Amino acid sequence: MGSGVCVVGSLNVDYVVRADALPGRGETILGESFRTCLGGKGANQAVAAARLGAQVTLLGAVGDDAHGAALREGLAADRIDLRHLRIRKDAPTAVAFITVARGGENMIVVSPGANGTLRPADVESAEESIRNARILVAQLEVPLDAVARAAEIAAEAGVPFLLNAAPARRLDSELLEWVRFLVVNEEEARAVSGRGGERPGRCAEEILDLGASAAVVTLGAEGAIFLDAHGLRRQDAFRVDALDAVGAGDAFVGAFAVALAEGMKVDRALRFACAAGALATTKEGAIPSLPRRPEVDRLCRP
Ligand code: ADP
Repeated sequence: MGSGVCVVGSLNVDYVVRADALPGRGETILGESFRTCLGGKGANQAVAAARLGAQVTLLGAVGDDAHGAALREGLAADRIDLRHLRIRKDAPTAVAFITVARGGENMIVVSPGANGTLRPADVESAEESIRNARILVAQLEVPLDAVARAAEIAAEAGVPFLLNAAPARRLDSELLEWVRFLVVNEEEARAVSGRGGERPGRCAEEILDLGASAAVVTLGAEGAIFLDAHGLRRQDAFRVDALDAVGAGDAFVGAFAVALAEGMKVDRALRFACAAGALATTKEGAIPSLPRRPEVDRLCRP
């Protein structure tokens, strides 16, 4: 039996076209390969945690359509508990249209669809799952009032709340005071802290001043830093042959949540999360690149 992770977040279907270059305004170009993949930060992080051995419940919303069915099937295959996944008649499943140019530069339009319909009442009807979890995880691709309600329920029940503040925005102290761990990448750290141009450590200090108990800033190939009232810790990245960074951040968040749910100390949890992030860069895509427990344990071994 794994430890319980409750994720509140988004589910999308991504349409990915590769092309030589990005089209100009009003221009039509011929692309190359095309594929559809399951995504959304909520779905990705739920799968990341499930593949590392946690029992995962995902609270979110999809449309009553083929995309929603594909997501349900894919997530069920990773043994994610979908009993609180809402199926909307009046909103389509979210889709992301992604064009990737040869150099890796991309252009993305997301239609939030059902993700935008998640309400505090949906979260309340899943209250038991939040209260019984070892950790609550959320991101910012679903409405903030739903995230805030989940955070409040978790706080009342003494369940730690990990917020991955992506896409980044300024947040009220009222929400941040419920956050035990705020996890962001370097750019997001600047946006959340309002400290454009500052070093990650300085942004992390500001995030603590704003109310979060601890801040984790992921630094790509430089690893990650962790700051709380006891001070700063740093974890170097694992050396791997990185192929595609997509999914690394979600692998990190899912793994960090699992580590904390299992009661690992912060240093070990950071190492575990960096190993998962590194492994996700060695394969293409988000969900297909999320590693399984034995690989992460192997890489973590001293
Ligand atoms: P995001 O994808 O959200 O921008 P990062 O790029 O910071 O997040 O990646 C998350 C974590 O994944 C990093 O903290 C690091 O541990 C790992 N990681 C990312 N890129 C690499 C890389 N090139 N080599 C090794 N580890 C990496």
